[in-house]
Amino acid sequence: MDDRNADVEQTLVLIKPDGLKRSLTGNIIALLSHPDNMIVAVKLVKVTRELAEKHYSHLKHKPFYEDLIRFLLGEWHTNRVMALVYEGPNIIQRIREISGATNPEEAKPDSIRGKYGRIHSKTGVYENVIHCSANDIDAEKEIKLWFEPYEIVNIRFPVQYVVEERTVMRWKT
Ligand code: UDP
Ligand code: MG
Repeated sequence: MDDRNADVEQTLVLIKPDGLKRSLTGNIIALLSHPDNMIVAVKLVKVTRELAEKHYSHLKHKPFYEDLIRFLLGEWHTNRVMALVYEGPNIIQRIREISGATNPEEAKPDSIRGKYGRIHSKTGVYENVIHCSANDIDAEKEIKLWFEPYEIVNIRFPVQYVVEERTVMRWKT
């Protein structure tokens, strides 16, 4: 990162399974839209338990952890999330604000979670439709967990080139 772009950051956004199932993707992306908020990566991901557990590893001791993992795995909605990387000045904090408080009942009414979040009646899990990184350390960790460098159009973290032999799926010719 050079001095001119010292305040430019990247952050991970996930549109959670409830957001996809309820067709809120467009609404959520619209609320995140601003000339300073640039999408530099986007994909749909079928979430595995391993990925979900890595993503929420810091909450492993919480009583709602297992239900949270089941929520991210799509048990009540769909087993997909949309993962995006946003880039811009102070983007981590700005997207946290647009998203709103973790508990949808406490989130400002004009925030994403305030507008679209619910509390799952059976488990009490906050179905708050969006995840966004909380700080720069989490952002780097989460971007690297969900994306490979080649999936991001602006690479901001150091990369290495590794020669490896592996089987990949290609279109049949
Ligand atoms: N969560 C929940 N109940 C709680 C706290 C959190 O269901 O009491 C869920 C909620 O979906 C939240 C996620 O766990 O988004 C991760 O929690 P965290 O404290 O990291 O909140 P966030 O960073 O998403 O605002
Ligand atoms: Mg968090």
